Amino acid sequence: MRASRFFISTLKEAPSDAEIVSHKLMMRAGMIKRISSGIYTYMPMGLRVIRKVEGIVREEMNRSGAVELLMPVVQPAELWQETGRWQKYGAELMRVKDRHGRDFVIQPTSEEVITDIARTELRSYRKLPVNFYHIQTKFRDERRPRFGLMRGREFTMKDAYSFDRDLDGLKQSYQIMYDAYTRIFQRFGLQFRAVAADNGAIGGTGSHEFHVIAATGEDAIVYCPNSDYAANMEAAESLPLYPTRGAATQALTKTATPGKAKCEAVAELLQLPLTQTIKSIVLTVEKEATDKVPASKVVWLLMLRGDHELNEIKANKIPGLAGYRFATEQEIVEYFGTPPGYLGPVNTKKPVTVVADVTVANMHDFVSGANEVDFHYTGVNWGRDLPEPLVFDIRNVVEGDPSPDGKGALAILRGIEVGHVFQLGTAYSEAMKATFLDENGKPQLLQMGCYGIGITRILGAAIEQNFDDKGIVWPTSIAPFEVVLCPMGYDRSEAVKAETDKLYDTLLAAGVDVILDDRGERPGAMFADWELIGVPHRVVIGDRGLKDGQLEYQGRRDTEATTVPLADVAAFIK
Ligand code: ATP
Ligand code: MG
Ligand code: MG
Ligand code: MG
Repeated sequence: MRASRFFISTLKEAPSDAEIVSHKLMMRAGMIKRISSGIYTYMPMGLRVIRKVEGIVREEMNRSGAVELLMPVVQPAELWQETGRWQKYGAELMRVKDRHGRDFVIQPTSEEVITDIARTELRSYRKLPVNFYHIQTKFRDERRPRFGLMRGREFTMKDAYSFDRDLDGLKQSYQIMYDAYTRIFQRFGLQFRAVAADNGAIGGTGSHEFHVIAATGEDAIVYCPNSDYAANMEAAESLPLYPTRGAATQALTKTATPGKAKCEAVAELLQLPLTQTIKSIVLTVEKEATDKVPASKVVWLLMLRGDHELNEIKANKIPGLAGYRFATEQEIVEYFGTPPGYLGPVNTKKPVTVVADVTVANMHDFVSGANEVDFHYTGVNWGRDLPEPLVFDIRNVVEGDPSPDGKGALAILRGIEVGHVFQLGTAYSEAMKATFLDENGKPQLLQMGCYGIGITRILGAAIEQNFDDKGIVWPTSIAPFEVVLCPMGYDRSEAVKAETDKLYDTLLAAGVDVILDDRGERPGAMFADWELIGVPHRVVIGDRGLKDGQLEYQGRRDTEATTVPLADVAAFIK
């Protein structure tokens, strides 16, 4: 590739909405361009990285024996109604109507479509086992799209679905995928960890998440340094070993006056024990109540993240809240400009975020400081009038807790979920009546597994692990280009041009992914661009060195350039 014929567009400053380093650097390096919240164009430079990620994933999936197909992005609602997910999936599911008024979804995942294929195509045990995969655009109307490609609304996923005749077969297919994922993340050159995950509502027999380790990761992962125990926080917390503990309350009371009576009242209203863990909570008031209406009129509305069914049931059962109903997610956003998941005084612009589960008791202690009866902060300038609200990360499992296997103390790291493997069992085949005939001609339910990799999220995760003050440092396997040739005076010096062209051809012939920067930029600007873009190897060709038959080589992590004889350059680029 010649840079003059490619598209390069770098920025000195990242746009102000970019919060974390990978988002900033991808914007500055011209890899992505935002068109709407959570929706990006993959610009030529970014697309090259995506294609390399896809390439590795495709190679390893094929090696594992999985078969590629391509399922549609737009899927009929009927299939989603069969499994009940049309209702259950909630606001993340993008629903659209066609010109005839028929309902469709823009797929967030493809269990329904693949199970429909399976029930018509996999009629005999002779067709099993089989694992289908595709690399396809997904749409999830995420509540908080953020961090660029890390949590987009439109993104690319590799999703695979295995079908087996029995549980043993499923376990084997699952292991094959687990091993393929391990190879994939090794080839990306990223530091990662597979952790046990909760199967959640779907049930089934086993699940692991693959996390790239990074301080900015949204998830906490728990592991024992002396053993193989590793789990995501949700799975670790679900063990009876770790009851809700004082740590949370302690953290909460830092800014809040404990309101014991109130928390008991809420528990009673909700008909929940004080220790009941509820996912995220939003405290809110009626629209007009924010500034003028006394706080005694304040209505406490609770919202359980991702569990709308439970939400509704509880709402009906709350006598004290008769006449009120739970606010919908959309209403909350419209009224208060913040999505549910926030907990705090809503009449301020800066609510307190609770990042993790809290209990009914803790929740109430927490908010009571700011929302005592007839006492309500208005127009507070946080940081001037009151200390900045703290963001708490409240966990039931803390660093140093005993590992469930008894082999030592637990450590906690932050991770980015880049892959997920899941034994679904017969949940979907039952709902959609997907059976095959066994040797005796008897119909049996298909045993199913599903396996996802966040292709576009990998870019963000890789950068969070590999950057410096100059820009991105791509691992070679997924870099947009492996080598950049930077000639000094390509258009002025015959010798430089000739040697550069020759080297370029040699590297191309050797299968090296090389870009020749023939844009005629000044050296400083040229180097800064490639350091920002993160190309792993740079070769500088100049008249002075050429006189002695030498070039300058610098690896992206090297602090200085090395002088290299022309003939040896290839050896440096590995
Ligand atoms: P998360 O917990 O981050 O919301 P998830 O558990 O909902 O992810 P899965 O349904 O397991 O995601 O999907 C498989 C993979 O797709 C995830 O492991 C992740 O790498 C990727 N992924 C999920 N949601 C997004 C998103 N909004 N943007 C980019 N990648 C995503
Ligand atoms: Mg999700
Ligand atoms: Mg997840
Ligand atoms: Mg997941």
